[in-house]
Amino acid sequence: MKDAGVTCVKTTCAYCGVGCGISAEVTGPRSVTIAGDPAHPANRGSLCSKGTHLGETVGLEGRLLTPMIGEKSASWNDATADVANRMRQCIDEHGPDSVAFYVSGQLLTEDYYIANKLMKGFVGSGNIDTNSRLCMASAVAAHNRSFGEDIVPCSYDDLDVADLILLVGSNTAWCHPVIWQRIEQARNNRGTKLVVIDPRRTETAERADLHIPIAPDGDTALFDALLAEMNSRGMVDRASAEAACNVPENFWTTRCSEHGIDQQLFEQLLGMVANNRRMITLFSQGANQSVGGTDKCNAIINLHLATGQINKPGSGPFSITGQPNAMGGREVGGLANMLACHLGFSEAERDDVAGFWDTDRLCLGPGLKAVDLFKSVHSGDVKFLWVMATNPAVSMPDAGFVREALAKCPNVIVSDVMADTDTGRFADVRLPACAWGEKDGTVTNSERYISRQRALFPAPGLARADWRIMCDVAAAAGFGDAFKFANSAAVFRQYAAMTALARKHGKQLDLTEWADCSDSDFDSMQPFQWGGHHPLGRGASTSDGRPNLIAVSPVQNNQPKSKFPMRLNTGRYRDQWHTMTRTGLSAKLSIHRREPLVEMHPQDAQNLGLQDDTLALVTTPYGDSVFRVRHDDGVQRGGLFVPLHWTDVTSGGGRTGMLAQSRTDPISGQPGFKDTPAKIEPLEPEWRAFLISREMVDPQTIYWSRARLEGAWLTEIAGQGSCGVDRLLPHGQRLEVTDAKRGLTRIVIVDDTGALLAALFLTRSGQLPGRDWIESQFSSQDGTPAEWLAGRPSVPAPNQGAIVCVCHNIGERKLWQAIDEGAGDVAAIGACTQAGTNCGSCRPMIARMLNEIQVKEAAE
Ligand code: SF4
Repeated sequence: MKDAGVTCVKTTCAYCGVGCGISAEVTGPRSVTIAGDPAHPANRGSLCSKGTHLGETVGLEGRLLTPMIGEKSASWNDATADVANRMRQCIDEHGPDSVAFYVSGQLLTEDYYIANKLMKGFVGSGNIDTNSRLCMASAVAAHNRSFGEDIVPCSYDDLDVADLILLVGSNTAWCHPVIWQRIEQARNNRGTKLVVIDPRRTETAERADLHIPIAPDGDTALFDALLAEMNSRGMVDRASAEAACNVPENFWTTRCSEHGIDQQLFEQLLGMVANNRRMITLFSQGANQSVGGTDKCNAIINLHLATGQINKPGSGPFSITGQPNAMGGREVGGLANMLACHLGFSEAERDDVAGFWDTDRLCLGPGLKAVDLFKSVHSGDVKFLWVMATNPAVSMPDAGFVREALAKCPNVIVSDVMADTDTGRFADVRLPACAWGEKDGTVTNSERYISRQRALFPAPGLARADWRIMCDVAAAAGFGDAFKFANSAAVFRQYAAMTALARKHGKQLDLTEWADCSDSDFDSMQPFQWGGHHPLGRGASTSDGRPNLIAVSPVQNNQPKSKFPMRLNTGRYRDQWHTMTRTGLSAKLSIHRREPLVEMHPQDAQNLGLQDDTLALVTTPYGDSVFRVRHDDGVQRGGLFVPLHWTDVTSGGGRTGMLAQSRTDPISGQPGFKDTPAKIEPLEPEWRAFLISREMVDPQTIYWSRARLEGAWLTEIAGQGSCGVDRLLPHGQRLEVTDAKRGLTRIVIVDDTGALLAALFLTRSGQLPGRDWIESQFSSQDGTPAEWLAGRPSVPAPNQGAIVCVCHNIGERKLWQAIDEGAGDVAAIGACTQAGTNCGSCRPMIARMLNEIQVKEAAE
């Protein structure tokens, strides 16, 4: 029976664009139990590991709880006046384009609406762009070119009834795990075929019926060739396509048939595309994050339009977003090249928007897209930059240049939930924003479902909602009349009313039925989908209602190879999110990957003298950073793969943003994160160590990386010369052993009661002990000081191996045992070990283990 004091709140996950519904039971002042909401259409009760462990991330550790002007805390009145004065002064002295906002797909739609209204309507510049530019701007541009509006033409339900699903540039099992579960169900239930098109053989690709290992940026060539080949073999009903679509002159004759992959694989793929009646192509960052991203997305859409695989159940090109509210930002107009509510900058659209907002200060045209925006900050043209809910000093490409820009900018304002971020270190003013669990408003997921994010806790300290912070600054800057909103419901009502303008200009975005909703209607809002399941079924938003086929060109890779012979790809880890400010708070989510790895083919590694588990320096024309080497034959020869999560706050290496190129797609302005020229070389430290400590430490050596454990921190450290690690150790009783023969120093620090405070293991030439047992001592503490110094128990306990299932803490050993005892599939292993039976994020890993055994048995 439920505790009478427990409140259950329906809300939405803080992380990816799947937009899973959550039932949150608030069990204390800052504690909550999280479960999937069975009634939410996006996830029907499922959650992945990140959503499942959200409850571990709602504490106040590291939060910014008061406004800060420089290093001094300030009242909201003073901070608001300071920000407004700085902004007003820049507008008055240097014009509106000297002001810019860089915002985020983490903001709620109401925040986004106010940011866009303030910048485009009242500052009078188009200079508001968002980190969604880095994520899916190419899909937006492609939708606009093909459909006349940024419309995703499918729904998740289509995945349930597709015959064939193509995944392009998407490690769905890691990055959108609940969609992956839905795909798995379709495969089990109705035999849906799965093709993965990706340069890497990811866990997703391993589970596919067919993996197409294209060259980096090879997608446009492949999709264009598929269409060309189907056309030349008479597999395309051209008459129907020409009746349904606007077709550019010579479209059919200029398609290129050079696909760049093995011919047999190409034929297999072509056969699957031609012979399945219902096909979904789900595409994500691997398609978007390219210097030719817009053409890639249009090449995918072209195939669907030309073959009629769209606007019917189980069919369509489906862009899936990375961030929880990238879609909401797109809808209100939070990209620099959109005005508002899917409207552009024509005179008629500008007149209507100026009338709706009752302003004579409306911007004249588009503003600067993210990469150009930071160039203008660097050049001094932009003199006031307000960063909200994002960390561009880490996440922008060529992040070293971005840091220079931030350092030069005379007015950097940062609204964030965290006190210490890489970007916040450059701020003149820091403003404490509400976090997930405190915010109240709406988000839109990848399939256009609008859901409520609801507050679970009161705002801590002086933290405030982003929309309110901006409204207060707008009022202090003299724009108050247009920014009087009592609550987020009032903001939503105005946004919903404004979508009448979208409808007037032939767009499909239409939320006008919510324009007069009461506060209680807003409070009780159930998830709803604008546009229905197949919004283009009623026609596209072009002048004649027909979608456009678009002539595309394959990406040309002309970058010189001699100095930088490798090609660097970037992406996410399964259990981490962005720069780990939230997921890094969870010990469970830190288990899957504890350090930033550079993954590379074992043959390349051998040729370059890079042993598995050693350190390497990765260098690109933009910067360099240190990673730990992981051999992985799923990475193509000549390729490197690195994660995007580590920052100055969590590591002295793993700085992927420093490496990624800032070259962008000419149409969308999205940077080409997935293909940067690079080189890699061994980094040979003179000593290596790991420290497990109750308190966080800051080593400042040539390499270090910190991960959260239960009740402690694990810090991997490597350095040159004198190790100087004594300064990292806490005060307490010190036990020390030096094993000169094995080159090992071991130090244990305990407090007066004998409780373990820290354990350091350092070597100049030998092996370090395993971390698992000593790590466990910081939560169970059942060993003796002598055992702690040894780094192992005197009676060795069976090693459970790397943890695979973080929900149930199941290690590899138990899984191998279950397989040995006859468990022959993932479900059977789940039944006897529990592994994979909660969030399911580890199921692809379990499947990989089963596959390994099957391959081994077949070879014997
Ligand atoms: Fe959150 Fe995972 Fe659902 Fe994404 S798939 S919304 S991260 S629970």
